[in-house]
Amino acid sequence: MRTFGGFRFKDRQFYGELRDDAVHVLTKPYWLGLEFNGEVVPLPELQIDVPVAPGKLIAVGLNYADHIKEMQRTPLGTPLIWFKAPTSLLPHGGTIEIAFPKHQTDFEAELGIVVGARAKNVSVERALEHVFGYTTAEDISDRDLQKSEKQFSRCKSFDTYTPVGPFVYTEVDVRDLPITLRQNGEIKQQARTSQMIYSVAEIVAFASQSLTLLPGDLILTGTPSGVGPIHEGDEIEARIGDWPPLKNSVALASRAGK
Ligand code: MG
Repeated sequence: MRTFGGFRFKDRQFYGELRDDAVHVLTKPYWLGLEFNGEVVPLPELQIDVPVAPGKLIAVGLNYADHIKEMQRTPLGTPLIWFKAPTSLLPHGGTIEIAFPKHQTDFEAELGIVVGARAKNVSVERALEHVFGYTTAEDISDRDLQKSEKQFSRCKSFDTYTPVGPFVYTEVDVRDLPITLRQNGEIKQQARTSQMIYSVAEIVAFASQSLTLLPGDLILTGTPSGVGPIHEGDEIEARIGDWPPLKNSVALASRAGK
């Protein structure tokens, strides 16, 4: 397994590969090629930033049978995809800011796919050749708006509603990994990625029939059952396999709506 990420040092933002406890600095984002500039910086000296900068942030819904049941929905027979705003991305350690405190706003832990190569009309068999790697993500969702609006984009696109990271992992098999979400230390979601109705390859192939996937695009693959509301002061932790956990706290947005 290799580990890549986005980092910040004072005013400088860059991407790099994490080896042991040091970051090897890249000349450009890792999804555009692995070219190192020779600089090596100890991780503790750096701030962990969002590990991706997708042109498109795609989400998949209703991809675990138990979650379809708890949402009282019926399977569609194909993957359900929509777009989230890339400005909703939040790094590990950042604060999820609830936009509407009176609305039910839920956590959803999800496996994220980072696209590594342009994909247009790719087959399921060749889909993984277009994947760079994987990450841990959350699809924070305003259920009040989700129920009252036909489009899912607004209810899931508020700033900070897509925590992701801390890093992105390559050379890893994600077909059967445990995925969990803890709220204030208590396990709320617990499943395995093998329970996904549509696999990573099927999702990439399906999305590539509708639109062209480009390097750096991020796809969230849906959440298992156990979703529930977040509250001011919560500590949320999502974990996939033995990857470092994605930890975020929760607050109310400074200009929260009603
Ligand atoms: Mg979701």
